[in-house]
Amino acid sequence: MRDACGGGRGNATELGSVNQPRAKVVILGGGPGGYEAALVAAQLGAEVTVAERDGLGGACVLSDCVPSKTLIATSGLMAALDGSAGLGIRLDGAAPAGTAPAGTAPAGTRTAGTGRAAVDAPRLYARVRALAAAQSADVAGRLAAEGIEVLAGTGRLTGPRTVTVGDREISADVVLIATGAQPRILPAAVPDGDRVLTCRQLYDLGELPSELVVVGSGVTGAEFAGAYQALGSQVTLVSSRERVLPHEDADAAVVVEEVFRRRGMTVLGRSRATEVRRTAGGVAVILADGRIVHGSHCLLTVGMVPGTSGLGLAQAGITLDDRGFVPVDRVSRTSAPGVYAAGDCTGVMMLASVAAMQGRIAMWHALGEAVQPIRLSHVAATIFTEPEIATVGITHQAVAAGQADALVVKLPLATNARAKMQGFRDGFIKLFARRGSGIVLGGVVVAPRASELILAVSLAVEQLLTVDQMAHTFAVYPSLSGSLTEAARKLMRPAEDA
Ligand SMILES: Cc1cc2nc3c(=O)[nH]c(=O)nc-3n(C[C@H](O)[C@H](O)[C@H](O)COP(=O)(O)OP(=O)(O)OC[C@H]3O[C@@H](n4cnc5c(N)ncnc54)[C@H](O)[C@@H]3O)c2cc1C
Repeated sequence: MRDACGGGRGNATELGSVNQPRAKVVILGGGPGGYEAALVAAQLGAEVTVAERDGLGGACVLSDCVPSKTLIATSGLMAALDGSAGLGIRLDGAAPAGTAPAGTAPAGTRTAGTGRAAVDAPRLYARVRALAAAQSADVAGRLAAEGIEVLAGTGRLTGPRTVTVGDREISADVVLIATGAQPRILPAAVPDGDRVLTCRQLYDLGELPSELVVVGSGVTGAEFAGAYQALGSQVTLVSSRERVLPHEDADAAVVVEEVFRRRGMTVLGRSRATEVRRTAGGVAVILADGRIVHGSHCLLTVGMVPGTSGLGLAQAGITLDDRGFVPVDRVSRTSAPGVYAAGDCTGVMMLASVAAMQGRIAMWHALGEAVQPIRLSHVAATIFTEPEIATVGITHQAVAAGQADALVVKLPLATNARAKMQGFRDGFIKLFARRGSGIVLGGVVVAPRASELILAVSLAVEQLLTVDQMAHTFAVYPSLSGSLTEAARKLMRPAEDA
């Protein structure tokens, strides 16, 4: 590792020697923050115990990231079918049993050409649950192979470095809190798991919602709204802000909102939901201005709250911030010596990749490895809408606010040959480069599979590559990545901001 920041204990290579006892590490929570830390600690010779309440892999694997992206794998195919007639595909054959004639398609059916595709909701949800369970089992297998002890149960701290799980009390040299977060609940919109739902309750439904009202237009709200619209639900997206994805690149959010509307979604901007009621046929969402939006189901995506209550953190000398998150520094230390925290419970950036990196850094630091503090400005992230929005590095907002002296270029993908062949036109590549040196500072990709395309920009940011170096890199013809090198070429000239 580069850029040493001294760890808290002796050199890890000595930990397993006859002269030095193995360090004892206890981890609360088996999500990416917890299990990735456990793997690093075991690799460094520590004796590791993970306490996990619900299942290894955490909410990430069992209810959030993995299930939602599995659902989106299906909704993406359904969205592709929408454009399939234009690509010369005719879906012939009889409509599946139980579906209505064209023009009266129920939730979950899609017409393309003369034929029809339908979502088999029970099968889709069964696939989602099975895939999550299999992924959790894979994580369990990896931990078992490394000799990591896993205790099924709820853990809490009873002292600065003492943890209890059930009737077992464990003293540790190092404790890691990685207890994640839960969906925020509004007092006047309490989920019932039947019609009023959090994002963790979708996969137990027996059917697709026919009319889904999604409250909240952040990343989770936008992803599910887009997915269910593509699967065949009629979706209304209730956003308290002027546009969807208010915290993301404005140009990207505009593209996604346009696509949503074109596909038939109702997007209600500047509309704050204050209450959700059950009705005879479904739900009524009451807005602050008195309007009422009716639907069969309501999905609440109004933020996450940290899972930090009841953990005994105050007794252990750990102070929380005013929203209940555990404040940490860039090597994941809390306010209590020997106690680290990683992942959503820290409120740093609610991403699986960040949780995992915080967890690894915590162990490298605690067990005496040289470690590079986390660099949040290098985090690549994706919003899995259709098209996807992938970002890395500085934001356009920061450039506009004068926080970075950067040139910006934005290249629409509509003129990209590969995009034409694939039949899409909604998307662009945006690149930021430092004025003068031409070092790539970040980028935004709005495209199908933008999550894969962003790696090239991510590499450039991480390795301090210049636009000249990017421009001289071969891209395949035809390819969407060709637009990345083209954007870099445009920035080679000292043009004014696009
Ligand atoms: C719908 C949705 C989709 C998402 N999609 C993505 C995505 O595509 N990409 C991405 O990077 N991120 C995504 N995220 C975010 C990602 O899921 C989280 O950032 C990630 O799960 C955080 O990992 P973690 O280890 O902090 O917590 P978690 O994954 O929440 O794991 C914490 C674990 O701790 C356990 N626990 C809590 N308290 C205790 C206790 N006292 N004792 C024992 N165990 C305890 C819980 O049971 C849980 O299993 C998504 C989130 C949501 C809600």
